[in-house]
Formats: sequence, C-alpha cells, structure tokens
Amino acid sequence: MTIHSRSFDTQNGFRDKEGEVWPTQPRIVGDEMGFPEAVKTKALIACARHCCLCRQHKGLKIECHHIVQKSEGGDDTLENCIPLCFDCHADMRSIDHRHPRGTKYTPQELIQRRDAWYRQVISAGDEVAQTDSEITARDAEKSFDQYALRVEAGETGGFFETRRAGNFYTHTRILKLKITNLHPIDPIVGCKVHLLDIVPREYDGPWILAEDLEIAAGDYKFVPLVSYTEADNVRISPYGDSFMEILANKNRPLPSADSQHVLTIRATALNARFFEMSCQLWVDEDGRLRIATV
Ligand SMILES: [Zn+2]
Repeated sequence: MTIHSRSFDTQNGFRDKEGEVWPTQPRIVGDEMGFPEAVKTKALIACARHCCLCRQHKGLKIECHHIVQKSEGGDDTLENCIPLCFDCHADMRSIDHRHPRGTKYTPQELIQRRDAWYRQVISAGDEVAQTDSEITARDAEKSFDQYALRVEAGETGGFFETRRAGNFYTHTRILKLKITNLHPIDPIVGCKVHLLDIVPREYDGPWILAEDLEIAAGDYKFVPLVSYTEADNVRISPYGDSFMEILANKNRPLPSADSQHVLTIRATALNARFFEMSCQLWVDEDGRLRIATV
C-alpha cells in the first residue's frame, strides 16, 4: 500500500492524487478510543451486539462510533455513541464531502436509527440477543415506551417490609410494587402509580399510590401498596386485623381481610406509555397477607 501517494483524514478516508476517495483502510481504531469502558458496555448491551445500521448480529466484530466526531466537538457519552459493524463503520468515512457520491448519515439520522434499534432489542428481549433472526414487522410496530415502564408485585426481597405493631402478638406486613425503568438511556419522569380499581369494590377510587417519581435508566423504585397487621402465630395468638389498608395518598380504602381482592394498577409517566397490571390480594389461612400477579 503506497500511503505516500494519498492524503488521509479521519472524516473522508484515503484520497489519491486524482482526488478519488478510497474506503478507509486500515480501520481507524482511534475512533473507539475515548469512550469509557462503562459507556461501551452499556451501548453493547443496549444493541445486543448488533450493528445499529445493518442490524446484523456481529459478536466481536463491532465498534463504538462517535456520532459527532470528537474533532467536531462530540463527547464520549452514551448519547454520542453508536455501535456499528466494520462495514457500516467504514461507510461512515468513505464519503467525499467535496465530491459527494452517496448520501452521508446526519447525526440526527444516526441517533434515530440507533434508538429505534435499542427499542427493538428491549421489546424482543432475549430473542435478539441470542439469534440473528430477522426482526419482523410486528416487532417493529411495538412501541418502545410500552416496555420502558414495568410494574411488578411480589412477596420477597424489596417487595415487602415487616414492622412490629403496637403489641407483642402482632406485626405489620407491608407489600410494595416495583416500578422499573427499562430504558437504556433516558430517565422516566413524572411517574404516577394509580390504583384504578378494586374488585370486589367496597370503596370509590381511583386512588394514587405515588406520584412525581423519577427513575433513572435501568433503575427501579418500590412503592408501598398495602399493609396488614398479622398475627405472629395464628394458633397461639390469632390477632390479625379484619381489614387490609391500601396505602394510597389519601382516602385509603380498607378492603376486608376475609375476601380476595383483585387490584388494577396503572403506572404512567410524562415520557413513557402507561403500563397496566392486575394483582390479587388476600389473607391466607395462616393469617398472612399475600399477593400474586393475576
Ligand atoms: Zn452494519
């Protein structure tokens, strides 16, 4: 390769004496430099190691490209990073600005193409990460935001909390909802958790369980849903409450403890589509407050 006869710049690749542009070769590894490891890792997880332009699974053969070049003021952030395969990465540089053939990608187009792909990775879950299968039109139609907000109920870990009640025989069990932001980049803002309905309905709603939540990308928060004063041991001291207390901001409903209730929960946010789920609440024969997703 006779480098001397060609000029070279990071934007346009090689150029010979006649001004003809050559594809960039060898690849300029310098472009990847600058992104912190944490940013590259997040980007590679978000794209599931697929190229954000041609959308093929590339495994090790993938690189992180600066959407706005560092020489033009671009920074080393996740927002300015797009994972590309070697071929697409080379295309980024093969356009001659003075004699353009083909059409250059604008930063805006790169960002939109990347974010659209990140959304598909989220909506397809493990399928994308594990296979090279074509993304179907149906998948493409799925809204990303539908998957950005998730609400779950449970009985383990951070889902519950136990407090001693006022006397020796009883304690209060509090069950919580877990609100997760699945978005790889954006925080969820203005998130509100509503209890839309309780069946059988003994009180009028809807009720607000939490509001003005902000949840960072990939993070979660627990929101108290219901509390119930349980007996420590129903056989020794059967002193539980006769109702559960829904932990709404105001007008707290008190569903009776001797029937099962189905709750409809909806989480909304200013920048995501709502997520709705139903869960069943009951007190079992051991006097324990229980919850399960319906
Ligand atoms: Zn590609």
